[in-house]
Formats: sequence, C-alpha cells, structure tokens
Amino acid sequence: MHPELSFDLLGEMIHACHEIGVKAPLYISAGLDEKMARKHPEWLIRHKDESLSCFGVLSNNFMEPGYHEFCFNSPYLDYLLQQIEEILNNYPCDGLWLDIVGERRCYCQNCVQSLLAEGKDPRNEEDVIQLSKRTFANYVSRVKALVEKKSNRAHLFFIIVGISIGEGMICYRQVHMQRLNRCQLVDGAMKTIPLQQDIYIIKSSSSLA
Ligand SMILES: [Zn+2]
Repeated sequence: MHPELSFDLLGEMIHACHEIGVKAPLYISAGLDEKMARKHPEWLIRHKDESLSCFGVLSNNFMEPGYHEFCFNSPYLDYLLQQIEEILNNYPCDGLWLDIVGERRCYCQNCVQSLLAEGKDPRNEEDVIQLSKRTFANYVSRVKALVEKKSNRAHLFFIIVGISIGEGMICYRQVHMQRLNRCQLVDGAMKTIPLQQDIYIIKSSSSLA
C-alpha cells in the first residue's frame, strides 16, 4: 500500500469495478524495476562487453536515466513470482498483464554459468540463443503454474517484445501444448484484447533483439 494512503486504493478500485460489472486485470512491469536494479545489478541482462540492456533509451549504464532489463535466468524471476503471488493472495483480480517480456540474449554470469554447466560455450552465438529460448519458456511456465495454482479467475497476458510471433508460438507450444486451442494471437492491437481467452501472445512492432 502507498505510504501516504490510509486505505487500500487498488483493492477499492477493483471492488468498484466489480460492483458495476467491469473486469479488472492488473498490470505488472515484468523485467523492469529500477529500485531493484540498483539493489541487485547482478540480476540484470549483460551484453558481451558487460554493458547493460536498456529499454527505450540509449543509456546502457546507471549514469543517465533509463530502464534496465532483468535477466529471467537469475533470482529476479523468484522475486517477480513473489510479487505475482502477493497480488493473487490479496486481490480478486480478473487477469494479470505481464509486460515487455521476450527472448533476450544475455551474457550475465548466471547465463555464462548455465551454459558452462551444460557443456556449452558462451562464445557460441547459437548456444546463447538457445539458452534465451529456454529461459523465456521457463518464465512462462512458472508464471502460468503459479497463476493456475492460486486463482481460478485470473487470465494471463504476456506481452512479447523483440521476437517474432512464430518463435513465440514455438516457445508457447513447448510449455502449453494442451491449451493451444485457447491461445489467441493479437498483432499489436492491445486495446482489442477480449477477456474471455486464457493466454495471449501479443506481437509488438518494437524490437529489442
Ligand atoms: Zn542472464
């Protein structure tokens, strides 16, 4: 709850929406969290030269304003899952909107260690790409498992940036084969999403690859 408020604003907003029959999915900024980025810079995506991966701005360090992307092959994923669980425990939300996710090539020490442990080579581009696909698939799988365990009403929206719908579908097929027939693809038109569907993979015109 916001420290300057004496009541739970989000809870009251959801209650007001439900009172007039309006569904209230909640937005979560997945992968971007500047407060935590400064606390745990070792969880951030790194390029080959150790510079940071930035979202929407040119700065690739902390000396200029900008958002820095987290690697999901790090303890950041557990931290994000804790946030999702807190929401599902405390609010009757109709959906979760997880923004700005996607397959990211990463050379952080978690990713380097993962590749070496598998007998792969961090200098081999293809090995790095394959790890990015597994990391993203694991993220989707763990979020979906948590939501299914905690809620029978929350729909999931994954907003994917920087990969093609084709690759997104392959990734999706790996972890959710049994529910493919209920997956809806939307091409950049976020405002047209109908809430009856279970999972959305949304193609963005932006590219961070
Ligand atoms: Zn990484």
